[in-house]
Amino acid sequence: MAHDHPIPADLTRNQELVLGTLNHSAGPLSAYDILDRLRGEGLRAPLQVYRALDKLVERGLAHRLESLNAFVACADVHCHRKGLIAFAICERCGKVDEFADAVIEERLGGWAETEGFTVERTTMEIRGRCSECAKAA
Ligand SMILES: [Zn+2]
Ligand SMILES: [Zn+2]
Repeated sequence: MAHDHPIPADLTRNQELVLGTLNHSAGPLSAYDILDRLRGEGLRAPLQVYRALDKLVERGLAHRLESLNAFVACADVHCHRKGLIAFAICERCGKVDEFADAVIEERLGGWAETEGFTVERTTMEIRGRCSECAKAA
């Protein structure tokens, strides 16, 4: 995963801690995983982590993976400007790749226009095996 997001200067201490934890993790983390890792920093309550995550997700610095109920740091500085965020999730090693695909986005846009459906956000989660794991199998 590439973490090329600069950390904004106006984050609260908790938001910064949570984002730092996500940035240093090789895979997605649940709120409780994050809390576990931040106990040494004085975080005690799940609510502290949830509040920080809410803000980070809102700002596009982190994403929630619905199918895993876990969070990842955003790996794409520009993704919040795109209509579609897609994740390839490896079920074997847990690796998550964030990517954007203009073709899928266009097709979805075309469908929405035909249907008169107003799209607010689209998150795709593709589950399977990453290339490394496919090779190893
Ligand atoms: Zn992103
Ligand atoms: Zn894998």
